[in-house]
Amino acid sequence: MKILKKLAFFMLLGTTMLFAKPTIYILATGGTIAGAGESALSGSYTSGTVTVDKLIAAVPQINEIATIKGEQISNIGSQEMNNEVWLKLANRVNELLSDKSVDGIVITHGTDTMEESAYFLNLVTKSKKPVVFVGAMRSGTSMSADGPLNIYNAVNVAMDKNSVGKGVLVVMNDKIHAAREVTKTNTTAVDTFKSVNTGNIGTVNYGIVNYYLAPVKKHTVNSEFSVKGLESLPRVDIVYGHTEDTPDFVETAVKNGAKGIVLAGMGNGNPYPSVEKALAEAVKQGVVVVRGSRVGSGSTSVGAEVDDAKYGFLTADNLNVQKARVLLMVALTKTSDKDKIQKYFKEY
Ligand code: ASP
Repeated sequence: MKILKKLAFFMLLGTTMLFAKPTIYILATGGTIAGAGESALSGSYTSGTVTVDKLIAAVPQINEIATIKGEQISNIGSQEMNNEVWLKLANRVNELLSDKSVDGIVITHGTDTMEESAYFLNLVTKSKKPVVFVGAMRSGTSMSADGPLNIYNAVNVAMDKNSVGKGVLVVMNDKIHAAREVTKTNTTAVDTFKSVNTGNIGTVNYGIVNYYLAPVKKHTVNSEFSVKGLESLPRVDIVYGHTEDTPDFVETAVKNGAKGIVLAGMGNGNPYPSVEKALAEAVKQGVVVVRGSRVGSGSTSVGAEVDDAKYGFLTADNLNVQKARVLLMVALTKTSDKDKIQKYFKEY
């Protein structure tokens, strides 16, 4: 009798473990995915008006596959994203993921700066568990809103065992992207997110997840960066290069206390001559200067047309300038040693 009881107990335990639903947190930050407009055919709307409970209620199917918990981190258009929200978000993600009962996190976010936030989290998250950013190009009140299916797909990606250890991910329009690689390429199209240098690493079609590639650069548990104890991040400005340029913006950045400057250079990261001079002067004053490109893909090569060794400039590898800014900010929390920072740009 005793043996039968024990057997029944273990069978029940086994079945519950087998069919136990994963716990996924949805952390909402705002964006068009939480936006509302006047009519189904109006392109004008306000980002970040709908709360996390309503976002979850719009996709009841996710409750069938996971235990969903929601939290509101902020409710802003991502053009308003700032260091304070980043630090709050990163600390909360780390806290939740250290809890054994949490299996993954989905972060709803505006699309304008999603690539920066995702890359920031990719550098400072201390867990292998999936962290998935998701957004929408059409607000919830729009005809053919893309938010609900994107959320459904993001939850499936966050639950998938194959998402473990891949770093922070971005799910948009049926594609899975690595945080380091993805960028917004079109102002209004639904198919705007592309990993221009490498391609998307997987697909997710009505919840069916498939991976084809894995990120190779350092991230999450292999990253030496951390937000623990950080209350602010150093100022890093981006200066955009063009014909008939002036040194004014570089000089202003330095005057206003920038610790780093990323150049969105012409072609292979080239500055206008007077800008090159101003950047060299900035380096002399202790500012870390990283040359990137305004082109949108490819890497900025060391010493191609600019004498980086002579001026003390670093290069951004194939990070776009907004991601190079994120890495430089995070790097400057650890060191201002130029050789070490250049090494980070090779590794992350
Ligand atoms: N401006 C919006 C935002 O980034 C755009 C969007 O979410 O698609 O918050």
